[in-house]
Amino acid sequence: MHSDPDCIFCKIVAGQIPSRKVYEDDELYAFHDINPWAPVHFMIIPKTHLPSLAQVGPEHAALLGRILTLAPRLALEQGCTPYPDGGFRVVVNTGTLAGQEVHHLHVHVIGGPRPWLKT
Ligand code: AMP
Ligand code: ZN
Repeated sequence: MHSDPDCIFCKIVAGQIPSRKVYEDDELYAFHDINPWAPVHFMIIPKTHLPSLAQVGPEHAALLGRILTLAPRLALEQGCTPYPDGGFRVVVNTGTLAGQEVHHLHVHVIGGPRPWLKT
């Protein structure tokens, strides 16, 4: 498990910064976004420090698969209504131009009743 002492999400994983946990296992951690865009807004992150989707390789395929297969289950648990009339949005901002502010890979899961701040 790689950790960056200057990374805010590594500090959340280590419990050095508080967070509202949604889910945790050996490899993954999910927690509510501190500044939600919608009634449901949490992020799923790998516990290991990986700066962004730009750095992933074949060795990360299983990890990314686990994140994406966890997303629909947690979305429903957190109050998103079912597909196809309900649903949720999955966002991975990658790089500064795309709006990535925290450089530890995170998958936003966003949903719940509208209006949302960002549509
Ligand atoms: P991004 O812009 O994709 O890098 O998203 C980073 C997200 O992390 C933003 O939506 C922030 O609101 C969120 N965030 C930053 N610090 C914290 C924190 N301490 N706890 C929970 N969410 C945070
Ligand atoms: Zn990190």
